Amino acid sequence: MKIEYNKSQLILPQVTCSCAHHQAIDCDIHIGSHIINEMNQLIMKKIKGTRCMLITDKNLFMLFGEKIVDILKKDFNVSICVPNEQDPLRPDQYAIGEVMMSLSNDIEFLIAFGSGTINDITRYVAHHCCLPFASIGTAPSMDGYLSVVAPMLKDDLKINKPAKYPSVCIFDTEILKTAPSDMVFAGFGDVIGKYIAKADWILSHHINDESVCPFCLELDDMAITLCEENIDNIKEKNSAGIKAVLEALLLTGLAMLLNGDSRPAASNEHNMGHFIEMKKLQAKLPHPSHGEAVGISTLYCLDLYQKILSYDFSHFNADDILSKRDTKQIREQKILRAYGEEVGNAVLQGNIEELITAQEHLKRLETFFRKRALINKDLAFLPQKEDIIHLFSFLDGPVKASDIMVGDDLLKQALLYAKDYRSRYNVFKLADELGILEELIDDMVLHELK
Ligand SMILES: [Zn+2]
Ligand SMILES: [Zn+2]
Repeated sequence: MKIEYNKSQLILPQVTCSCAHHQAIDCDIHIGSHIINEMNQLIMKKIKGTRCMLITDKNLFMLFGEKIVDILKKDFNVSICVPNEQDPLRPDQYAIGEVMMSLSNDIEFLIAFGSGTINDITRYVAHHCCLPFASIGTAPSMDGYLSVVAPMLKDDLKINKPAKYPSVCIFDTEILKTAPSDMVFAGFGDVIGKYIAKADWILSHHINDESVCPFCLELDDMAITLCEENIDNIKEKNSAGIKAVLEALLLTGLAMLLNGDSRPAASNEHNMGHFIEMKKLQAKLPHPSHGEAVGISTLYCLDLYQKILSYDFSHFNADDILSKRDTKQIREQKILRAYGEEVGNAVLQGNIEELITAQEHLKRLETFFRKRALINKDLAFLPQKEDIIHLFSFLDGPVKASDIMVGDDLLKQALLYAKDYRSRYNVFKLADELGILEELIDDMVLHELK
């Protein structure tokens, strides 16, 4: 599979699998140098109407606002909303309130000019107001440009809200190149996380018979390869490097859209990233960006995979493990303590099926040992964590938890409890079921990535 374009338009890869649940995707994606000058025509090809509202943040408006508005005004009647609440802008009830109150009845479509937060706010409002929107991306920093879920904040609590994807995405590489290096690193980190998303999905397929989509896995591979092959360009932040990270993020976004959930692109590396962000928010402390948190979490997930795949199970005793299972009450206490009352209850309610029976537990253990050689073979694509540390440091990015303001206590909590954030099966749940999670985590926190 190769990435192809028709002029500036990315040709969406032809689906080659036979999964029945994939839906057609109706979004034009354009990438090019100085393409911003053509954005009106590109928008008009997909969206009817002339009255629009531009949503952006203060910083971007200062840098590009005049130019963008001048271009838009040639064909559209433009109103502008620059939510004013905080700097940096947060996707919370205040920002949403400001956007909603700026909307007049005659607005026919929205334009998001920004990256993660601006797109999250716009996609949420667009969904609730049944308006189409165009996304003019400004940084290759996250994989959510095509997302149908908006991660929002309410009273510092992170909640996922239903949203819609844009009708048209336009990325001007000249604008993307001006994004700060840490945003580009974040995009890279988010893509590197797909190693774990892919591995956990395959692991779950073997242990629990979860169905996997080979086409989505291929999109993950393409995304990772694009980033790794362009590492020198990414370091230089030149057009080819910026384009590679962006394409990789869009491919994994496409995989999520096709699969109807984030399974192809998010597993425990994302859980850990969310957990870290949530705990920082609860403590009213600054938090690392999404991609940084995912990238660093990926190192610890790789480490756990390395440890499990090479573990000496010669003294393993299933009866012993089964006799030490947490009761429902103890599991609940642990989750409430780790997540706090409010989120903890939501996690428990969202993952009711997670407390498996002893019979199911035994079945999973038997399956793991029976298929161990096959699992090892199918996960042989995983790199060593040292390889990824090498890439991160080449890009002058963080290489361990403490580099992103995550101390040992928070790291240990994330390693122990992020696995429960979603009901999705992952290698941390396997380690837990094998009765070796705490031992391996202690080893990681104490000796490994210091
Ligand atoms: Zn992500
Ligand atoms: Zn498929």
